[in-house]
Amino acid sequence: MSKLAIHGGSPVRTDPFPRYNTVGDEEKRAVVEVMDDGVLSGFLGEWCPSFYGGPRVQALERAWEQYFDVRHAVTVNSATSGLYAAVGAAGVSPGDEVIVSPYSMTASATAPLIYGAIPVFADIEPDTFCMSKDAIRRCLTPRTRAILIVDLFGHPAAMNAVMQLAREHDLVVIEDAAQAAGATIGGRYAGALGHMGVFSLNCHKSIQTGEGGVVVTDDPALAERLQLIRNHAEAVVEGKGVSDLVNMVGFNYRMTEIEAAIGLEQLKKLERLVCARIDAAAHLTSGLRHLPGISPPAVHPDARHVYYAYAIRFDAAKVGTSRKRFVEAMRAEGIPLGEGYVRPLYLEPMYQQRTAVGRDGFPFTYAGYDREVSYDRGLCPVTERMHDFEVVLCYQCHAGLTRKDLDDVVRAFCKVSENVAALS
Ligand SMILES: *Cc1c(COP(=O)(O)O)cnc(C)c1O
Repeated sequence: MSKLAIHGGSPVRTDPFPRYNTVGDEEKRAVVEVMDDGVLSGFLGEWCPSFYGGPRVQALERAWEQYFDVRHAVTVNSATSGLYAAVGAAGVSPGDEVIVSPYSMTASATAPLIYGAIPVFADIEPDTFCMSKDAIRRCLTPRTRAILIVDLFGHPAAMNAVMQLAREHDLVVIEDAAQAAGATIGGRYAGALGHMGVFSLNCHKSIQTGEGGVVVTDDPALAERLQLIRNHAEAVVEGKGVSDLVNMVGFNYRMTEIEAAIGLEQLKKLERLVCARIDAAAHLTSGLRHLPGISPPAVHPDARHVYYAYAIRFDAAKVGTSRKRFVEAMRAEGIPLGEGYVRPLYLEPMYQQRTAVGRDGFPFTYAGYDREVSYDRGLCPVTERMHDFEVVLCYQCHAGLTRKDLDDVVRAFCKVSENVAALS
């Protein structure tokens, strides 16, 4: 027995953990080359060769296609933009419903609202935290147009079952793989499993360009619509001879040459960075799996989890104290942990007050929409339980951590678990 730091004992660790940093000399050199060129973006918002962007943007897209084995990659300035573009490209319209996850970054649920469609929340699986195919099935109505599914924390969603459902009901599936670059299921890359897939290159993700994203698809018609929405579609359709004007109000979602140059170098590092996460997770899991009430992340037999987050499930009855007390004790030992993840998204004020676009409650009040979906507490009980009681996020699961760093995490978990009686 040793005295817990929260009660004045000496903490397992006093040093901060190393920061995750994926950027090195390769990125620096690539950026300087762009600077020497002086052309920081190669895009023009009209129908001409520059409609597709500069040389590095196009090189990143070709490299991304090759890496993920997809026919088309379209870079964008964020995954949020990518999700909006994907919803637009799918032809989603006011009065449509899009099935979304309540347990994700907000944009994976808000994207349909931009096109006047209604987000319908389907509950998650308690083991992978991704949307449950049975919950999705229960959300289907004649108005369902698309499913926006998330590979949460780096574990691929049950895409085979969801694609089957989509075929039966003629739906478009958009896979939000923002957290899952390098994950696979059945040997195929996450992000490449739906009709469109969206990756994030923001500074928190496994690889990054500061801000950025990539949308992929095997469908040339969708790829063209994504490119149009990215770059002022309304000013391009005539010159390009595009006749379907649905959702062809364009945006500027264009990536700069600097970000693309960084992205080209980052993509080369992806496999190494992902392997480091998988190794770190294996080390944590072997140290934690015997602790009562602490369940390391589950991995489906045919999946490769890339651990954007290492999400533990916490069973307070078996551990012998509340999640809150346990996490406080861990923090005192020098190990930062997160409680929950995001609040179930339907509990955000925008849904509670049904105020999204404009003053009059559009699209919830749209005259062409005759249903009222629920955003009440209790709607997705698994998500609520995970957020309120069960999920604990461990941030020490990435490249750049030493064996000792990971051992400290394990030692602190063991110490707090063994001394849990002193906490209550
Ligand atoms: C980070 C993230 C996004 C948004 O990515 P940005 O590039 O910051 O817009 C969307 N969905 C999920 C699941 C994410 O983790």
